[in-house]
Amino acid sequence: MRETWRQDLGEGITCIDTGYVRPRLAACYLVEAGDQAAFIDCGIPRSLPGVLEVLRERGIAAEQVAYVVPTHVHLDHAGGAGAMMRAFPQARLVVHPRGARHLIDPSKLIAGVKAVYGEAAYRDNFGELVPVAADRVIEAPDGFALDLDGRRLTFYDSPGHARHHFCVHDDRSQGIFTGDTFGLSYREFDTSKGPFLFATTTPVQFDPDAWYRTLDRLLALGARRLYLTHFSSVELTQSLASRLRESIGAFVEIALAEEASGEMRRRNIAERMRALLLEGLQAHGCELPESECESLLAPDIDLNAQGLDVWLSGREGETKT
Ligand SMILES: [Zn+2]
Repeated sequence: MRETWRQDLGEGITCIDTGYVRPRLAACYLVEAGDQAAFIDCGIPRSLPGVLEVLRERGIAAEQVAYVVPTHVHLDHAGGAGAMMRAFPQARLVVHPRGARHLIDPSKLIAGVKAVYGEAAYRDNFGELVPVAADRVIEAPDGFALDLDGRRLTFYDSPGHARHHFCVHDDRSQGIFTGDTFGLSYREFDTSKGPFLFATTTPVQFDPDAWYRTLDRLLALGARRLYLTHFSSVELTQSLASRLRESIGAFVEIALAEEASGEMRRRNIAERMRALLLEGLQAHGCELPESECESLLAPDIDLNAQGLDVWLSGREGETKT
């Protein structure tokens, strides 16, 4: 078995590759404080051996893991929650109030994921999802705070990517665990201009207006770092925040331009997005061959196009009623 990629980010935070789809696509974070530890985001069921390997290396016993914290209940973030809860007997699961019931009974989530990814991809990536006992679940509403042995973690309701999403502010590192709320930024695309970043409009709750408001709130916290699930840590700068806003706006524009394209809509959205991202990467100074960029982007383009298609359908529903 290949060794699990991990990176010590300082301040008691370790980024761990969850092995979802390809290397360095999705992470979870180990956060340590005194005698306790927490995981923010959980990967998928088969991420667990790598997670346990990192724990052993850090000298942390399974019983010291006090909290397991999926940022939202999309399965690249929460798919491994049940497996983690089984491995960490003292842990409580901290989850958004809108997501809690789906981790206690994952049947609806599983059906949703099969609809988006297909049956085979579901089996390959997610396997057996383990339900979490209701009495081990803590629902974290907006403003909720946890004390991890003196380390304060504060939870912010973060609609925009999904309505069951929160972000977690960490006072010690002045950082925010952003799940998908700060979009996607793969380290392969870093250049002298910094990280390349774009929005993730995964089905089925993309809401651009809510997302802009969420970003305003998060930026007002004055954090210095972002811990992205996709992927790893980046410095929070004004220009990065602007880039994300522009990306949300550009994807909305692409969707609206294809609104009346009928059966071709999803494919056309994906095609426009592919062109936009490749152009953006070139302007960013990315020197990877175009074919490599395309294969790194392909899974997200597919999901994003699906999400925008669903968003357009929702808008049509609204205007009809
Ligand atoms: Zn995600």
